[in-house]
Amino acid sequence: MSDVPACHTWPVATREELVAEWHQVHRAPPSDDDLLRLWQDGRCAVCAVPDWGSLVEDHDWDTGLTRGMLCRSCNVKEGNAGDVMPWTAFRENPPTRMLGMQIVYVNTFGGPTTRTQVPEADLRAAAGKLHIPYVQQGGYCDDESADG
Ligand SMILES: [Zn+2]
Repeated sequence: MSDVPACHTWPVATREELVAEWHQVHRAPPSDDDLLRLWQDGRCAVCAVPDWGSLVEDHDWDTGLTRGMLCRSCNVKEGNAGDVMPWTAFRENPPTRMLGMQIVYVNTFGGPTTRTQVPEADLRAAAGKLHIPYVQQGGYCDDESADG
């Protein structure tokens, strides 16, 4: 594995460029998450393996923020790797930072997302942006005011 995360060799795109590219295919406005995935183009941010089907969202346990999309193999390695390259470089300057984005990581399985707790309002807002149901710690949040 290279000492340089693959994403550090990819040309950085501005938000405007990514949004324009998004609108060539989609009508609805993109979320930051959409733009991140568009920029990564199905490639793992560290090893560059094209793996659309199974890239996972890697996040920083200290901030609760998404860093970028990794293949499953790199995601596991990231969790176990200490302060060595390319992981140090990836953590210091992950795709979301390269692109000037802040994406609050939402654990769709309902588990914790940080060692400390992200305010629930932030998680709820992030879930809304991703168009996925907000999941409270320990179970689904039933919004009883919503019509089926
Ligand atoms: Zn990888």
